[in-house]
Amino acid sequence: MSNTTFEQIGKVLRDYRSFAILGHVRPDGDALGSQLALALSLEQLGKDVRVWNEDGMLEKYSFLPRADLLTKPPANAEHVDVAVALDTAIQNRLGTTLAGIASAKIWINIDHHPSNPGYGDLVIVDPSAPATGEIIFKLIKSQGLPLTHDIAENLYAAISTDTGSFQYPKTSSRTFEIAAELVRDGGLEVGQISQQLYESYPRRRLELLRELLRSMRFSECGRVASFSLSLRTAAQLAVLPEDNEGLIDHLRAVRGVIVAVFFEELADGKVRVSMRSKDEAVDVCAICQKFGGGGHTLAAGARVRGSLGEVEQKVLEEIHDVLNKRES
Ligand code: 5GP
Ligand code: MN
Repeated sequence: MSNTTFEQIGKVLRDYRSFAILGHVRPDGDALGSQLALALSLEQLGKDVRVWNEDGMLEKYSFLPRADLLTKPPANAEHVDVAVALDTAIQNRLGTTLAGIASAKIWINIDHHPSNPGYGDLVIVDPSAPATGEIIFKLIKSQGLPLTHDIAENLYAAISTDTGSFQYPKTSSRTFEIAAELVRDGGLEVGQISQQLYESYPRRRLELLRELLRSMRFSECGRVASFSLSLRTAAQLAVLPEDNEGLIDHLRAVRGVIVAVFFEELADGKVRVSMRSKDEAVDVCAICQKFGGGGHTLAAGARVRGSLGEVEQKVLEEIHDVLNKRES
């Protein structure tokens, strides 16, 4: 797979008229912020833009500027000139947005997941980028596309969330330079954005954490930590899928833990597995790929068929094997 250039993508963005900007199912701040930022820049150019996600806009990100633009895909598929997939490692993670597109002359794929196979006609996959928002920033700057306050705030939210507030290892000096430029030129108020991102959770999120901690387990001499959420508990607490974003960080934050795992029972007979690593030598993307998933070296996931207990056992065994092979 070889990447195209920002110039080629910039030309398509200028030359065509109608666009659909898509992101992955169960979106995070990077997907939603990147989608809105690119859409708003295209809107400034006078383009006809749709912004779709299978889950629509999440309550917790509804403070993002022009969040109203982002909707679920329509029931009747539409023809667009250009479809753009953002932050989406594999095409089927676009979910129902795919069915919203009757036809597109060109597919663009912009992402930072190393497991992205490079689907689409014009592809930029940059695994060195800590967030897709950083790639969108570079695209906008290099092509002289509009960058307003609203666009800057969406990009800042994308980068802040996907770097774990500028903590994860792919956070570089360039990331801080980009953030500084967004804050300065976009006139952003960092304290206010951070409060909306990190200090405005619903109380039920903490109630969920309390239940998760009750199920917390350590194995492999404290190197693996995991917790689980059953459908029953989720229903009792009336939690939304978005409520658990980031809770796995509590496991990762424990000294000695190398791999953190969160198991979430889903209604379709599968279990969502979310995995984090603190050691580049323990590639959780490779582990998740064995179960049909993907992601990044240090943050990955999969959806695995089976009961909560079965999937927990299979996945923890695989992690056991990986850790032991590494030592032998
Ligand atoms: P999270 O644990 O936050 O849901 O996801 C961590 C990373 O793994 C994200 O970058 C996400 O794109 C990727 N990921 C999560 N679940 C899946 C999955 O089921 N399939 C693939 N291919 N990637 C996933
Ligand atoms: Mn991302």
